[in-house]
Amino acid sequence: MGLPGLASGGLIFWLIVTLVRRGDTMGARIRRGLARGEFRVVYQPIVRLADGACLGGEALVRWQQRDGSMISPDRFIPVAEAEGLIERLTDEIIEHVFADLGKFLAARPSVWIAINLSASDVESDRVRGRLDRLRKTHGVAAAQIVLEATERTLIDARRAQSSMRSFRDAGYRLTIDDFGTGYSSLAYLATLPVDGLKLDKTFVDGIGSGSAADDVMGHILSLAATLGLDVAAEGVEHQAQADYLIARGVTYGQGWLYARAMDGNAFCGYVDGHLPA
Ligand code: C2E
Ligand code: CA
Ligand code: CA
Ligand code: CA
Repeated sequence: MGLPGLASGGLIFWLIVTLVRRGDTMGARIRRGLARGEFRVVYQPIVRLADGACLGGEALVRWQQRDGSMISPDRFIPVAEAEGLIERLTDEIIEHVFADLGKFLAARPSVWIAINLSASDVESDRVRGRLDRLRKTHGVAAAQIVLEATERTLIDARRAQSSMRSFRDAGYRLTIDDFGTGYSSLAYLATLPVDGLKLDKTFVDGIGSGSAADDVMGHILSLAATLGLDVAAEGVEHQAQADYLIARGVTYGQGWLYARAMDGNAFCGYVDGHLPA
């Protein structure tokens, strides 16, 4: 076989691979990943900005496929949400968190873990039921669980409000994730049963740039203070950002300046090494 033959053989191979992959949608891959147990959870420390004490962590899902390649949650979470798979995935994530919680609480009884919820998770009773059941089995107080609901959750304001209230009444803490990037108006925040908000990384990125984002952040922070809400900032990478946030009364921070997401055992060590003064 000469060069042209090789080239056309390669082309046919590429065509077949492409066609097979096309039939294998992201949704189908997520289903298979769930069946194979390919999803794991890592934890990113959330610290008190004033002294760096680690008070909690955020559970972040990781998907490593059989061939070793990682797929970012930014790619598969929206697909899981759109294809009705997110509740199964959230169930799986919650199971992982409870499997780890015992050792976290042994390292520090007051530590809390934040779990991300999508809109349908907040609206269904299923997640509530699962959390309640697992808490009873493992003897974990509701106050050790923080639920992060993105602003996207709040599209249907009335429904979100009543389901959030039911989580709240059961003792879970609720925060609005990625605050400032979504639909909810600042005024609307006053009507939601939440304990705090998470300032999106885009605001932290813009610190000191003198951009409009700085002004918006100022408004968000003063409203949060008026409403008595805890504020956590995500994506803190530089000390100057931390200093700015501390000066404006932000209590908690999370970001590479402190630590990246890590597996459960490493998180235990981090908690142990960063006790409150
Ligand atoms: P998020 O909830 O806003 O999570 C924060 C993301 O920022 C994480 O990315 C985290 O690793 C990353 N990050 C944290 N600190 C820094 C930093 O200092 N610099 C930079 N450049 N990045 C930082 P990740 O894990 O890739 O997650 C992306 C998004 O996927 C999350 O954004 C969240 O919306 C979603 N997600 C992740 N895990 C879950 C989950 O278990 N359930 C659901 N429903 N969504 C999840
Ligand atoms: Ca989050
Ligand atoms: Ca966030
Ligand atoms: Ca974010």
